[in-house]
Amino acid sequence: MNNSAAERVVAYIGLGSNLANPVEQIQAARTAISQIAGVSELAFSSLYQSSPMGPQDQPDYVNAVISIETELPPIDLLRCLQGIENAQGRVRKAERWGARTLDLDVLIYGDQLIKLPDLIVPHTGLAERAFVLYPLYEIAPQLTVPGKGHIADLLKQCPMNELKRLD
Ligand code: AMP
Repeated sequence: MNNSAAERVVAYIGLGSNLANPVEQIQAARTAISQIAGVSELAFSSLYQSSPMGPQDQPDYVNAVISIETELPPIDLLRCLQGIENAQGRVRKAERWGARTLDLDVLIYGDQLIKLPDLIVPHTGLAERAFVLYPLYEIAPQLTVPGKGHIADLLKQCPMNELKRLD
């Protein structure tokens, strides 16, 4: 029997950008994610435009969600995503929720509940953020978010407000 095959897990990643041509940033990040060794893309949502959280003196965001199948452990996946953020010119500042060329979040990793110093999954705030829930629902309408419930029920509690789906 061959035990060497790594287990493949379905994970969801949130993408956001509000600087330096956000649509191109998101498209470049999609390509980079699908080129990570041990990752294959399953689905990619429409692009959405959202108002910033926190400081309002910054441009609107473009957001999307990608689903992948991966054999990378969650912390390795996070490190790869941070490498893509850095490669696309992300400057880490002390200010919370400040403008950024690219933000990549591990939203869900299989059915796992992860609480590590550097990684909390499902992502904190996922259930309250329209710019995460609507694109997530678009590509995974049957999803149960571990520890939080069915995506359709979460969506009912979260109005779209200023979120716009881009053509
Ligand atoms: P942000 O400013 O949103 O990019 O937050 C980055 C920080 O959040 C990093 O220090 C990560 O280690 C931490 N973090 C915790 N949980 C997650 C997650 N699920 N996805 C991405 N970053 C995470």
